[in-house]
Amino acid sequence: MNHYSVIIVGAGLAGIIAAKKFSEENVNYLVLDKGRSVGGRMATRRVNGGRSDHGAQFFTARSEQMKELVNGWVSDRLVHTWTNGFHQMNNITDLDSLLLHNDGYPRYAGKNGMNALIKELARDLNIKIEHKVEKIEWIGGKWSVSARVGKDAEMVSFTTDRLLLTSPTPQSLELLAQVDIEEKLRDELKMTSYYPCLCVIVALSAQTNIPKPGGIQIKEGSISFLGDNQQKGISDTTVVTIHGNEYWSREHYNEDDQIIMDKLIDAAKPLLGEGQILDKQLKRWRYSKPEVLHPDEFVATTMPGPIAFAGDIFKRGAVEGAILSGLAASEWVLKN
Ligand SMILES: Cc1cc2nc3c(=O)[nH]c(=O)nc-3n(C[C@H](O)[C@H](O)[C@H](O)COP(=O)(O)OP(=O)(O)OC[C@H]3O[C@@H](n4cnc5c(N)ncnc54)[C@H](O)[C@@H]3O)c2cc1C
Repeated sequence: MNHYSVIIVGAGLAGIIAAKKFSEENVNYLVLDKGRSVGGRMATRRVNGGRSDHGAQFFTARSEQMKELVNGWVSDRLVHTWTNGFHQMNNITDLDSLLLHNDGYPRYAGKNGMNALIKELARDLNIKIEHKVEKIEWIGGKWSVSARVGKDAEMVSFTTDRLLLTSPTPQSLELLAQVDIEEKLRDELKMTSYYPCLCVIVALSAQTNIPKPGGIQIKEGSISFLGDNQQKGISDTTVVTIHGNEYWSREHYNEDDQIIMDKLIDAAKPLLGEGQILDKQLKRWRYSKPEVLHPDEFVATTMPGPIAFAGDIFKRGAVEGAILSGLAASEWVLKN
């Protein structure tokens, strides 16, 4: 049976939260994701026997809805409070500006990494990974969704009454290039944009000089965040996550891997300590955090057929924004 009541594109937070809702409501749904695992930007990698969160680092809960969800995850021991504030610096070159900013707001993190949290949320959901959606059409009163399975493999097709797209908006718009959706909606989505992020993961033979609690937010210069995954409590060995600043990442995005890694590691050196580099990896995030947000929590239309768009690009951004957007869009889908 390749027909579903709802198909969700994307098994990141927005897609998984929506799928959980459909599962609770006994809706016949399917989630398709092109990745080798669920999670999207809630990403954790194994490096040299240790672990590194290399996408989202932490999240906050500002709204009542999010606080309720997070309290449940804390009780289930899926997340914990990493800290109530990080060290901050003006620039990685200005070590004298390093200062702990504790504002009393909890910053939560997955107990075994950010990806472990979303894997747990995705447990028992109907998800097909390594399914890259390449074509969407509205034919005969149904959506037709074609996906490539694995690399270079053949296409499989599904049909559905309703669609929920949670891929970053440029990717969703590309999928809808041949679909006659309202021009106004297409234009609104085209206005949104994301910053890229160049991320370097470094495994070291000794502890770092990054002060407790293991995270530094940096206002300007080449680096925006330094995370010590061992102090964060997700790695047995010393593994550091270095996030390139959004403007720096945009400027250097297409440079050679080795050059990018050397530049960011060199800039971070005073805080990396005396350890030898045992391994290093680069992850390019083309769509990292919203640059221009859409003002609404999600968008949707019934022309030519029921279709909704959700994700962190809507209203608030960040982990909390992706979750609330996925929830709001799933409510709309249930009513249409
Ligand atoms: C480097 C970095 C640091 C960050 N730090 C923080 C932080 O500290 N705190 C915070 O709150 N947020 C942070 N964020 C942002 C946070 O990760 C995101 O807001 C959130 O995870 C977005 O969830 P989402 O479901 O909207 O999108 P995503 O997680 O991007 O999910 C979209 C999914 O769609 C899939 N997809 C795309 N195209 C297709 C296709 N054609 N076919 C099938 N599947 C497809 C992708 O594989 C992906 O899994 C960070 C992000 C990055 C990259």
